[in-house]
Amino acid sequence: MITRRDGEDTDATSEPSSRRTGQQDGEEAQVLVVGAGPAGSAAALHLARAGVEVVLLEKSGFPRDKVCGDGLTPRGVQQLVRMGIDVNAPGWMRNRGMRWVCAGREVDIDWPRLGSHPDFGLTRSRRDFDALLADHAVAAGARLHTGVRVTGPLTDRAGRIVGVSALAGPEQRPVTYRAPLVVAADGASARTAVMLGLERDPERRVATAARRYYRCESRSQEPYLELWADLMCAKSGRDLPGYGWVFPLGDGRINIGLGAMPHRSHGPVDLRATMDQWLVRLPDDWGVSEENATSPLRSAALPMGFNRHPQYHRGLLLVGDSAGMVSPWSGEGIAQAMEAAEAAAETIALALARPSGAGREHALRQYPAEINRRWGRHYRLGNLAGDLILGRYGYRPVLHPRVMASPALLRTLARLLTHVADEPAHDTIDAVLHTLLRVVPRTRPRGRRTPPS
Ligand SMILES: Cc1cc2nc3c(=O)[nH]c(=O)nc-3n(C[C@H](O)[C@H](O)[C@H](O)COP(=O)(O)OP(=O)(O)OC[C@H]3O[C@@H](n4cnc5c(N)ncnc54)[C@H](O)[C@@H]3O)c2cc1C
Repeated sequence: MITRRDGEDTDATSEPSSRRTGQQDGEEAQVLVVGAGPAGSAAALHLARAGVEVVLLEKSGFPRDKVCGDGLTPRGVQQLVRMGIDVNAPGWMRNRGMRWVCAGREVDIDWPRLGSHPDFGLTRSRRDFDALLADHAVAAGARLHTGVRVTGPLTDRAGRIVGVSALAGPEQRPVTYRAPLVVAADGASARTAVMLGLERDPERRVATAARRYYRCESRSQEPYLELWADLMCAKSGRDLPGYGWVFPLGDGRINIGLGAMPHRSHGPVDLRATMDQWLVRLPDDWGVSEENATSPLRSAALPMGFNRHPQYHRGLLLVGDSAGMVSPWSGEGIAQAMEAAEAAAETIALALARPSGAGREHALRQYPAEINRRWGRHYRLGNLAGDLILGRYGYRPVLHPRVMASPALLRTLARLLTHVADEPAHDTIDAVLHTLLRVVPRTRPRGRRTPPS
């Protein structure tokens, strides 16, 4: 057992569940983090660096696969640098920008040269990426336990989270972990949040996406993240309410996939059939064929547009996919997961410096306020764009031939999609984007949808 430094009074806690359920007591910490994806490892790393005792619980072992496009924009690179990760080390594949392909045209848009963000993106398979982040969290002082599947929150009589129950190891041994604060970073399943009563906002749709790896030496070193805006849905023939991607991994492989966020007026999308139909359009010399596939096609959900809230509730902070933090503009979620994790860790460190009680609660409620300050307007506009355009007609209207012919409009689009701009504005594009976002009404932090138990 570690010594608790926060002075938390546990008298209000109901009888330890180990005594109630026969579960074995695991460990205590100041903070538990559930899930060691980008959100969880980043949160654990930042907490450990701030001197907070943190236990990171992960159901899998590393390395492990995660269905993803494996692409990072400059916003994601910025977070890696903030975590002290060497982005010049072998294993990273750099990209210079995005390449949009639409209706027989193709344009390259370089990432902007801004003061606040690097001017390059990266790719790396999530198998490597997530293991690397978890290693860095451990090196910073987090205590990582793999093979631990969290089964639910432990709460005190007031309904406040005081730990989690879990099944540990191959023998699925019941065990409890205790802490006055828990970070839910368990991805799209959001099990911890759901079990504390935080349901998904039914007004916000969840996108789905599928990807497959192929051996493809000729495209594996491409300097751009390639995005196709003119895919047609198999069967219906309608425009895909999303896009397809070809991301170079630099190791002889490419990651090919597509995602869709259909509006209810659009009808369902068969991702597999749409992918099959798209792949035959790729140039023959790429060799994207069954023999060169190095994985099966796998799909997963992308919870976007802040589809679960509040992001702080009774000792639980929601970070990354568990809070639906995937960008409604682009489907990007790794950078957002890591950035929110840093904000959550900073909030927690400041809150733990106060005695438990109303002052600490007030400090913890700054986390959703901070997330809203950073992304609220951008996500609100993105949700609207999703409802009105992207979820109905996809990206084809956005990549109208006039837009594709205008470098200024393309640069504006790239910054809007990836949410990178200098503040205060460095150039006209930044100024236009800031003005656009300023006219979007601020989202007021919303309360929970289901009444407290
Ligand atoms: C097909 C596809 C392509 C995508 N492409 C991109 C892309 O190119 N770029 C990008 O930025 N984003 C992309 N995304 C989104 C991105 O994958 C997610 O937003 C990101 O992984 C979110 O990180 P996270 O840490 O919140 O969740 P996750 O990465 O899902 O991590 C959650 C972790 O929690 C663990 N866990 C879950 N339940 C439990 C439990 N009960 N107990 C213990 N541990 C648990 C899991 O094993 C996992 O390690 C894509 C998503 C999909 C589906």
